[in-house]
Formats: sequence, structure tokens, C-alpha cells
Amino acid sequence: MRKPSRSVIIYYTVVILALVVLNFFVFPYLMRKPVIEVQYSEFLDALDQGKVTEVQDQGKQIVFKAKGEKGEEAIYKCGIWDNQALAATLREKNIPFGSEIIKEPGFLLQMLGWVLPLLVFIIIGRLISRSMLKQMGGSGPMSFGKSNAKIYVKAETGKTFKDVAGQEEAKEALKEIVSFLHNPMRYARIGAKLPKGALLVGPPGTGKTLLAQAVAGEAHVPFFSISGSEFVEMFVGMGAAKVRDLFKQANEKAPCIVFIDEIDTVGKRRDGNFGGNDEREQTLNQLLSEMDGFDGKKGVVILAATNRPESLDPALLRPGRFDRRIPVELPDLQGRIDVLKVHAKNVKMEENIDFQHIGLATAGASGADLANMINEAALRAVREGRDKVSQRDIEESVEVVIAGYQRKSMVINPEEKKIISYHEVGHALVAASQTHSAPVAKITIIPRTSGALGYTLQIDKEEKFLMSEKDLFNKMVTLCGGRAAEELIFNSRTTGASNDIEKITQIARAMVTKFGMTDEFDMTALSTEKSKYLGGGDIFDASEGTAKKVDDAVFALVKKAHGKAIEILKENMEALHAIAAHLLEKETITGDEFMEIFEAHQN
Ligand code: ADP
Ligand code: ZN
Repeated sequence: MRKPSRSVIIYYTVVILALVVLNFFVFPYLMRKPVIEVQYSEFLDALDQGKVTEVQDQGKQIVFKAKGEKGEEAIYKCGIWDNQALAATLREKNIPFGSEIIKEPGFLLQMLGWVLPLLVFIIIGRLISRSMLKQMGGSGPMSFGKSNAKIYVKAETGKTFKDVAGQEEAKEALKEIVSFLHNPMRYARIGAKLPKGALLVGPPGTGKTLLAQAVAGEAHVPFFSISGSEFVEMFVGMGAAKVRDLFKQANEKAPCIVFIDEIDTVGKRRDGNFGGNDEREQTLNQLLSEMDGFDGKKGVVILAATNRPESLDPALLRPGRFDRRIPVELPDLQGRIDVLKVHAKNVKMEENIDFQHIGLATAGASGADLANMINEAALRAVREGRDKVSQRDIEESVEVVIAGYQRKSMVINPEEKKIISYHEVGHALVAASQTHSAPVAKITIIPRTSGALGYTLQIDKEEKFLMSEKDLFNKMVTLCGGRAAEELIFNSRTTGASNDIEKITQIARAMVTKFGMTDEFDMTALSTEKSKYLGGGDIFDASEGTAKKVDDAVFALVKKAHGKAIEILKENMEALHAIAAHLLEKETITGDEFMEIFEAHQN
């Protein structure tokens, strides 16, 4: 027996109330035959005139049938006078009496009065919930089962581990699951229990869904997929039913993979203080009990993905549930190169593409970003009427993903253009003058749709995993270079530096509160990250007095960086003027062009 959800209970309570009203008040009223009230004497008259055809003694009254003027029968009733004599008279006249005139409806008919409306209500209820589901769910590749919950099944995903670049550790961990799905009996025989579920944890776009599909593909088993948010968005009360359905169908198709994306939407920690989200909690409870209930030896493996592992309910992570946690991190340099290559296979490329260079330029990009870049590059090639993707296409699409499309139509007046030019060269010069800075790869003053009026692209020669205090400070100085150039040349401050200012402050704050890079606070953590994978800032955690001191430390760092930037530019005035003039003319210059002029003006 299913545990009914709240809305269903409410619906049927209303239905039963309606039935009671119908059967006790509405139907009797409708079925009542009109009864005409007459005097006892009139009854006797009718009796004498032979019009009465049937009589019933109801104790306090007499009900009788009689023919009217035109011979039509009607029902009458009257009070009682003398019944003893009446019986004799009726016998004499051979009129049936004592029989039922106003009939109680038969038992079968009475039941029909209950059953028929009930059926009508059930049908209406079904129709309503089905149409609501349709409105919410859209149409899936395949929806089946008696219930309204739709579940996706793709017989074969067609993906294999080859489609997933990098992520070697994740693949290694998942290989055991593949082998289990291939031959569940081998594990059962020895008595080994494989985890029922594994949790793929990592930032968005790193290939968690892809990995789950690849597991199904490698094991040649069906892939059931559903997103956590779908459970919660459903018509109230459907979440739990959907979980039940999912598992029922998965059990029928075992061995198979059940993939639950965004599990954090259902699996959020239950706090318990407030009423909370009843619907979500019911769904989560259902999920937990299904996971406990199903037979682990059958070969149903649940993979779930999340980028908010810290918010998951601990109950989900208990042994026998999602006790295996597989990190799926952003790709490193080699990983990025591999992802680019995997996706490059699907488009026509010129030979000698330098993937290494693009890999270096895309630090921090996710697999999805990289896939998107290759596609953007292909689109660009088509736009320009070529039939192969070139290195230039990919480089441009990297910039599109970083900074947005070029806004060629935007008209910037010459004075502003000059300021932007000096600002960008300021960044580049400061960067180039410091050791420990990534080399300048490109400077441009063509505005982008992201709002950037120009930018300086720096690309490291190799991937870095550690940042020293010096690296961070140099980065701040470089970021100060733009504003510093404006101040030195135009003696003014513009809003153009707002983005730089934001980043400088972020770095300075992190140095003070997170990386323990001041003597004053030593190795004290004064802030914690909100979410490891989603950013969203830090939570500052210190007393008021400390907060003030932290602010002072941050000001001091920023001021020092700004001062150093001005100092560097003052020493390189000649180069600054020369490169800014060149950039103003060309709008985009390469790192090599930049270095050439820079070196020519160095004393
Ligand atoms: P997630 O589920 O982690 O958010 P997805 O699996 O949906 O990420 O990835 C989105 C797309 O990005 C994939 O369809 C694929 O094209 C690409 N992608 C992400 N990671 C990789 C990878 N490691 N190798 C190849 N392609 C990847
Ligand atoms: Zn700037």
C-alpha cells in the first residue's frame, strides 16, 4: 500500500464530503415524488367513488394512490381517523393495502448513488493532475508506467570513457561500478556488496553527467536520468511518488544506472527548526527509504551529481547510501588539452593547431567551457566562409568566452580611446617589468559585449598550482597599473578601473583573511568560503575590533601596490607613450609587438 501524500488526502476528503451531501440531501430531494395532502374525508370520498387503487398505512398517516379526473394516478396523504373499520372496507372493495407506495430505493440503486459520483471524481482528479504534469514536465523521449511520473530511459547512452577527457581518478573509481554492472553475480557469489550509490562532486560543467552516461555506456545498461529540481517542481505530492516510480522501474530494468542530477535540491540538510519544505522533505525521505529498501545485489547503481556537497543531508551520505564520493575537478593543463582534442575530433580542423597554447590560455575553464570554445571557433570559421577551423578561430573564441563578443559598432570618442589605450598599456608595462608575472600575450582596445572597453591578456608559460605572497602582490600591482597610467598621463581618475579595483581588493582581503600572509594575524582564518565549487564569496568571521584591523591591513596592501605601480610606470614613461600610441593606431597588438617596443625603450 502506498503512503498517500497530503494533497491526495485533502482531495479525497472533499470527495467524500461531497458524496455525503449528494446522497443525504440532494438525491432524496430530487427523487421525491410530489405528495398531495388531503383531508381524511376526501380520502373516504375517493374510496367511495372507487378512485383509490392502493393504500399504505404509515402509522401516523395514510398514504394512498388514486386516479384523478382524467384517470391519471397521483399520490395523496391524509391524517388518521378510524383504521379498524378501514381495513374491512378495503378488503371488501378489494383494494390492495399495506403495500409500499413511496418506495425506498433498492440497495443496489443506493450503492450506485455512492459509486457513480466517486468514479466521476476519480476521473476528474486524474485528468487534473495529468494536465498539470504536462504543463510542468514538457515531453520526454519516452514516458511510461501507470503513474504520471515521467522517467527518461535511453536504452544506450552511446558514451564511453573515451568521450570523457582527463578525469582519470574519477574514471578509475567508476570502473569498479562498470565491472559490477557487467556481472553482478560475481560480486554476489563472494558476498561483496558494492555501494548502492556514488556521489559525483565538482563544479558545474566538469563532466559529471557525461561520466555517468559513460558508465552506463561502458556497461551497456539502461540509463535513467532525472534532475533533483524536477522532483521538487512537481505538482505537490508528486515528488515522493516520482521517486517511488523511478526505483520501481529501475528495479524492473536492472542492471541499470540511475542518475540524479542536482541532488542537493532534494537532499538539502533538514534543519528542522522551521516548518521547512514539506514537499522536499517527503521526497528526500522517500529517496532514503528506497535506497535502503532495494536489493543491492540486483545491479541498480545510483549516481548522483552535486556542486554543493556541503549542503547535503548527512543521512544521504551514510553507509549503504551515497557513501562513495568521487571528486570531479576542473581540468588541469593536460586535462584541458585533452578535452579540447576530444571535441576537436568532431569538427574539421587545420593541421598544426597549438593546443598547448590554448590550454595555457584557458586556466580555470571547465570541460563545458572548452567544448563551447571549440564550437564557437567552428561557428566563426563558417561565418568567415572557411571550411576548416584555424588556430586564430580558437583563440578568438577563447576571448569570446572570457570577455564576450567584439562590439565593433560601439563608437568611442578619440579622447576616451586614448585614455583606454594608456590604461591597458599601463597594465601590460607593469606586468612586464615584474618578475613572477605571466607574460603579456595580447593587448586590445576593441570593446567587448561583457562591458570591457579593452583588456590585456596574460598567459602563463606553464601551469601554476601555488601562488606565493609575491605572486599575489605582483598581481595586485599589475591590476593597479591601469589606473596608475591614467593618473600619471591625464592626472585624472575614471570609472574604467572599477573592475580592477574589485579584483585588487579581493586579492588583498584573501591575503589577509584566508592565506595568513600578514604578520599581524599570522595563520588565523578570518573568513570561510561559502561554497567550494560555486564561489559566491566568503563569509567574514571576526570580532568588530579585528574587522577594523583587517580593513587597515587591506588598505595598507592596496596602497603599497598602487604606489609600486606608479613607481614602475614613472621609470618607463618613454615606453608607455610609444606603446600607447602604437596601440591607439592598431587597436590590437600581440605580446611580441609589445615586447619589441618595450625593449627598444629600455635604458
Ligand atoms: P556537469 O554535469 O558536471 O555539469 P556535463 O557532464 O553536463 O557537466 O558537461 C557538459 C558538457 O561539457 C559535456 O556534454 C561535454 O561536452 C563537455 N565536457 C565536460 N567535461 C568534459 C570532459 N572531461 N571531457 C569531454 N567533454 C567534457
Ligand atoms: Zn584595467
